[in-house]
Amino acid sequence: MFKSEEELKKEPIKACFMSLVRNEELDKLIPSMQRIEERFNKNYNYTYIFFNDVPFTEEFEKKVNETINPKSKVKYIQLPEEMWSYPDFIDEEEAANTREKMKKIIYGGSESYRHMCRFNSKWFYHHPAMAEFDYYWRIEPNTGIYCDVDYDIFEYMNNNKFVYGFTISLYEWEETVPDLWPTTKNFIQQKPHFLNNNNLIKFISDDDGEFYNQCHFWSNFEIANLNFYRSLQYQTYVEYLDRTGIFYYERAGDAPVHSIAASLFLPKEAVTFLNQVSYQHPPFLHCPIEKDVYKQYNCDCNQNYDFTFQGYSCGIRYYDANNIEKPAGYERFQH
Ligand code: GDP
Ligand code: MN
Repeated sequence: MFKSEEELKKEPIKACFMSLVRNEELDKLIPSMQRIEERFNKNYNYTYIFFNDVPFTEEFEKKVNETINPKSKVKYIQLPEEMWSYPDFIDEEEAANTREKMKKIIYGGSESYRHMCRFNSKWFYHHPAMAEFDYYWRIEPNTGIYCDVDYDIFEYMNNNKFVYGFTISLYEWEETVPDLWPTTKNFIQQKPHFLNNNNLIKFISDDDGEFYNQCHFWSNFEIANLNFYRSLQYQTYVEYLDRTGIFYYERAGDAPVHSIAASLFLPKEAVTFLNQVSYQHPPFLHCPIEKDVYKQYNCDCNQNYDFTFQGYSCGIRYYDANNIEKPAGYERFQH
């Protein structure tokens, strides 16, 4: 009745690409997808799931269909109301006051940005269209990968027991979410057993959890095991955050939420830097600085512009927190 480990290993990985995107971003989305198709998916045919708060246009679906290799499935989904609206415990007037107060901060005055961050924090993995998948790769418009992914990256995640994979990490603007860490600390006090005893807290805190150093993995690129988001720890945490109203009374981004959860609830080895993939989301580029990696994966990005070891990146903190040796020559980026 139960499958042997051998049989399980042979089963294809259930994985998809996921993009929450606007119709107006079609022209910026296509190049992001072309790169992924060319460098990876033309050989693997994974499914694409597109989410939108309004219906996708015919033009959007047609152009995307033309970009994807015909062996890949694709779904276009308009989100149900509850995944893109205020929950009943939010006072919309207070939310509007917050937007007014925060309008000088990046996206601080935006209502849709908040729905987006909340969707990416607490809904995407719950959507029925995602139910059949164990791993996902998040795609955004106007991004790119610049190295060959000539191996099944989802299998690579699975075989290595990697749960969360990132390419770029950096500091958050604290003004967007001053209460995130105090709220998180309250949560941990209530659920101390949720902490993994081999966690990556050193990545997000320089004083063992007293303060948040604002480091986070940039979630516009993310390859992750969805079962992490479906775990009791993650769901209880995000539910707790949500109830405080932090997505609307502040401007909590999904990146710090994902990153704090991964750094607290996972063993540190489960969080992996996908150095060999490369990635760009303006204004930052990740391009592997090691000559052999660059060559092996046939990269075509400019190594001189790599962000990983620059001052505003949290790359060094990740290497140090995970006790990984930094590549030769990383110091030249320290300015
Ligand atoms: P940034 O990366 O933080 O600057 O934010 P983006 O503007 O790139 O938005 C993040 C992702 O969410 C992108 O894939 C956007 O297309 C998507 N997104 C943001 N706002 C909306 C929205 O109102 N509707 C839809 N459908 N997608 C959105
Ligand atoms: Mn973006």
